[in-house]
Amino acid sequence: MVKQDPFGADPGAWLRRNTPDAPVFFFRPATLQATAQRFLRGFPGAVTYAVKANPAPCVLDNLVAAGLRTFDVASVPEMQAVRAACPDAALHFHNPVRSRAEIAEGLRLGVQSWSVDRLSELDKLAALPPGSEIAVRLKLPVPGAAYDFGAKFGAEPEAAAALLQAVARRGLTPSMTFHPGTQCDAPAVWERYIAACAGIAARAGVTLRRLNVGGGFAAHRGAGPAPDLERVFARIDASAKAAFTGPPPPLVCEPGRAMVAEAFCLALRVKAAEPGRITLNDGLYGALGEWRDLPAGGRIAVLDPAGKTRTGPAHPVRVFGPTCDSLDQLPASLPLPADLAEEDWLLIDGMGAYSGALVTDFNGFGARRIVTL
Ligand SMILES: *Cc1c(COP(=O)(O)O)cnc(C)c1O
Repeated sequence: MVKQDPFGADPGAWLRRNTPDAPVFFFRPATLQATAQRFLRGFPGAVTYAVKANPAPCVLDNLVAAGLRTFDVASVPEMQAVRAACPDAALHFHNPVRSRAEIAEGLRLGVQSWSVDRLSELDKLAALPPGSEIAVRLKLPVPGAAYDFGAKFGAEPEAAAALLQAVARRGLTPSMTFHPGTQCDAPAVWERYIAACAGIAARAGVTLRRLNVGGGFAAHRGAGPAPDLERVFARIDASAKAAFTGPPPPLVCEPGRAMVAEAFCLALRVKAAEPGRITLNDGLYGALGEWRDLPAGGRIAVLDPAGKTRTGPAHPVRVFGPTCDSLDQLPASLPLPADLAEEDWLLIDGMGAYSGALVTDFNGFGARRIVTL
């Protein structure tokens, strides 16, 4: 649900007037569109959006308004959500494992690119029209991201070369893709992957139609400065030019987190406060679902019930979610103002990615309301 905010761009003013007892996401469409423009202008290739990071209709609509026309999808509901926002959008079905029913639906919806990381999944794509683009997904043991995606998907170099040859033999069009792992602020990871892709394609004797360098771009999570996306873009561009003999294949990226994180701020209310510990109205089963694997916490403001920022000295506070499961607590204490009290709000910035998308119904809690600023 998207509600227009009648009180301007200030979450504090909105909270003071509405005193919601349930969690609220504040959505800044202008920020989302500016981030999309930053990718479209800065990335040296085509830009797609990984829908799983935040599939809310207001997100898809604003990305389309900003000029995005290609979306990375992993399921039939994600394809339907994209089509609802943009009937002629291009779909990249880059979940490398699919049921036959999902493949049939993807064909019906005109998917333009498919990824595979094993021969058995390529076999399942036998009904694709000749020339269809198949992106072979590579995995390498490179650290650098906050969370490794290679643990589940991706073919190792030898298998990737064999897959490329199988794709070409079947009259399909070979591309390559990889994912550096999410929240990756190390351009060297892309450099290693791009060099490996060039070598594997050369060894397989195929020309890549495109090279998709994945998502993984870092969002601003910690207290330090925001990640420098342009530095990563420049390194990707230079790596591709250096890695291939002759002109490199056209590049594609599929950011999720870095596209949408900054566009949402999450307001959580303090249900109970005791010395050194608080209970919030959402937690690990809701919009903080990522926090156990990817803690954040560098960008939190605390507002009192009048909407004023608390400025007391920071103390470590253990933070619990609202459900009756003892797992529902943040893994480490957060530094929060000592004068923090019941019915205060925590305003957490940069919370647009893997937040609303992970909310469960457990115990009847979870952040669902979106207020547009
Ligand atoms: C999740 C995912 C992405 C987006 O990753 P971010 O780290 O959110 O940018 C892109 N491509 C694929 C195939 C994914 O699974």
